[in-house]
Amino acid sequence: MRLTILGSSGTYSTPGHPTSGYLLQDEGTSVWLDTGSGSFAALQNVIDFNSLDALVITHVHADHCIDVLGFYHAVRYGGRPETIIPAHVPAGLAERLKAFLGDPDHSIAKTLDFRVHGEGDRVQIGGIEFRFAITDHPVPTLGVRATAQSGRVLAYSADTGPQGSWSWIAEGANLFLCEATYQGPADEKPWAHHLTAGEAGLIARRVKAQTLMVTHLWPALDPELSVQEAEHTFGKPVMLAVPGMSVKV
Ligand SMILES: [Zn+2]
Ligand SMILES: [Zn+2]
Repeated sequence: MRLTILGSSGTYSTPGHPTSGYLLQDEGTSVWLDTGSGSFAALQNVIDFNSLDALVITHVHADHCIDVLGFYHAVRYGGRPETIIPAHVPAGLAERLKAFLGDPDHSIAKTLDFRVHGEGDRVQIGGIEFRFAITDHPVPTLGVRATAQSGRVLAYSADTGPQGSWSWIAEGANLFLCEATYQGPADEKPWAHHLTAGEAGLIARRVKAQTLMVTHLWPALDPELSVQEAEHTFGKPVMLAVPGMSVKV
């Protein structure tokens, strides 16, 4: 299984650095995981978007979903109007996207087959099995555990704070892609529903993840310091999600 980073900027995009978007591929299966701002253009640098098998969108925040609108336009009005692509989403997201576009004759639901998931749900997309947890975030948000046919596991925290039981998705994961929005002491962070780099490292150690890759860093922060803070609590070297990077899980 291969993970390609399309974008990893936390909350807003910066020049050359889209927000959350990942491409997960295994044995001919391609899944676009989070469709944050800027990630659709980045996706087109990597594959033909017509070859996607499905989308997984973790939550309704713009830095995780907004480029699905451009994707819809490209598919619907780019010569494949009859195409229907599964989009695996949490509760409420499809309604928000439909409302944004308005016109029912041009509904995004004519291109995307929305399938709503909650805690513990499981879905098979080609050769990859996805399981979902609800994370510690103010809107319904799906944490993801993706298992390849080989048994290799990628876990993705999406956006989350440390509360709740979502971290089971990362138990023993070969690669844990975990948000690390902030730096410094956890009790001084600006908002409870994101993690510090130190918290990401602690959780990764607790669930015995083999490898930790931090993502969704606040754009103004020094990423090297985030990596250092995560390594301090994880106890092992930590990778940083950088657009264009592609790693074998
Ligand atoms: Zn976010
Ligand atoms: Zn969010």
